[in-house]
Amino acid sequence: MTKISAAVFPGSFDPFTNGHLDILTRSLKIFDRVILGVLHNPSKNTLFSVDERAVLIREVCQPFGERVEVQPFSGLLVDFVKKTNTRVILRGLRAISDYDYETQMALMNRHLNEEIETLFLVTSEQNSYVSSTLVKQVATLGGSISTLVPPSVEKALRKKLGART
Ligand code: ADP
Repeated sequence: MTKISAAVFPGSFDPFTNGHLDILTRSLKIFDRVILGVLHNPSKNTLFSVDERAVLIREVCQPFGERVEVQPFSGLLVDFVKKTNTRVILRGLRAISDYDYETQMALMNRHLNEEIETLFLVTSEQNSYVSSTLVKQVATLGGSISTLVPPSVEKALRKKLGART
């Protein structure tokens, strides 16, 4: 059996937060390479387009060099994972509230493709209350998000929200 050196970290990343960065950084201690799959789901109303999200993540992940690749995708996650020639889906867990949804997704993905495993990584306490949804709400109401997202994401959020008002 060949050693697994790459994994896929999929998500909406609308926008990419310090919580996502936490999971990505941890995963790079295990895997040589991580492919960040940015989900394009036309039925989901996102603040940033899939291309905007990918550009932002590439900027944040620049220090990791070639170890991190950012790829937008749509359709079934297991199909995307198969196309990347990897077999591991990485997901982050914050609190017990994530567990139900995440295990349901993991079992469904296993049902769709037995060869692919889902690996959960637990975030640090300081990021355990960070979510893209909350970050957007706080930013919309003028609260500080500087410790919740990378600086370039904060800038992009301010610009986007400023443009909408
Ligand atoms: P999705 O719509 O696929 O859930 P998200 O961008 O919300 O996309 O999340 C992508 C992954 O990152 C999920 O596994 C989610 O649990 C995880 N995640 C989100 N925020 C955090 C955080 N603060 N700490 C750890 N994991 C997180």
